[in-house]
Amino acid sequence: MADRSVNGPHGANSGASDRHFALVLHDIAPETWPDYQGFVEAVDRLAERYGPIPITWLVVPDFHGRGECRESRTLRRVLDDRLARGDELTLHGYYHRDDAPTPRTPRDYYMRRIYTWEGEFYSLDAQRAGTLLDRGIAQFDACGWPHGGFVAPAWLMSPGTRQALAERPFRYTSNPQHLYRLPSFTPIEAPSIVWSARSAWRRGMSRVVSNLQYRRAREAPLMRLALHPVDMRHRSSHDYWLQLVERLLQSGRQPVTKQAWLARHAPDLIDGDRGAA
Ligand SMILES: [Zn+2]
Repeated sequence: MADRSVNGPHGANSGASDRHFALVLHDIAPETWPDYQGFVEAVDRLAERYGPIPITWLVVPDFHGRGECRESRTLRRVLDDRLARGDELTLHGYYHRDDAPTPRTPRDYYMRRIYTWEGEFYSLDAQRAGTLLDRGIAQFDACGWPHGGFVAPAWLMSPGTRQALAERPFRYTSNPQHLYRLPSFTPIEAPSIVWSARSAWRRGMSRVVSNLQYRRAREAPLMRLALHPVDMRHRSSHDYWLQLVERLLQSGRQPVTKQAWLARHAPDLIDGDRGAA
C-alpha cells in the first residue's frame, strides 16, 4: 500500500511551514456537543493567540437512532457558525451502530463485538450502504451543509460500502493511515493519532500508544488528530489533546481542514477524481 501512496507535490521533505495538521472531532451529534463544547472554546482561545484553527467535524446524522441532527436547533446553530468560520463538516455514518445480523465468523465476531460495536458500514452490501449514504446526504442537504467527505464509523468499510461511495458525489474517505481520493480510492499518506479513553487502563495505554503514533507521524505532511467525545470526559485525554494542538502550533505546523489540505496539496490527483473545490 505505502508504495502507491502520494505525499502531494511537496513530498516528504517539506519544511515545517509545509506541514499541516487536521483537528478532527468524531461523532458529532446533538447529544455529544456538550462533551466537546468546553474543548472547542479552549481551541478558540488558542486561536486568538496563534491565528485561525479550522476544525473538521465528523457528523452522525442520527446518532444511535436517538435524534436527528436536522431536528436540533442548537447543533445546527453551532455547525452553521463553524462552517461560516471555514470549518468542514464530514458525513460520518448514519446511526453509528452496527445493526447488521449477528456475526457468524470468528473474525467478524472480533471486529464487530470486541474491536467495536460501532462498525456500521463494516458488513453492508452496496445497496444497504447506498441507502444510508443517500439518507445522510439528504440530512446534510436539509441543513444546507456541503458534503465533500465520508468517514465510516471506526473507519471500517465493506466492499459494498466502497462501491456505493464511488457511485456518489463524495471527494474523499479515510482510514487511520490514509486519505483516499474518490472515486479512484487513490491513497494519500496522512497518519492519525487516536486515544481509547473508555477506561483507566486504556487511557494509560493510550498515552504510550499516542506518543508512538506521534513519533511515526512527525515527518508526515499531514498529521490527523482524531478526537472522540469520551476523550473530553477525562482530564488526562482532554489535556493531552489541547497540549498537543498548542505544541503543533508552536512547532510551525499549520492547522487545516482535510478538505482544504486535499485541495491545496494533492491537486495532481484531480485527473479521474473529483477535485475538491
Ligand atoms: Zn465515530
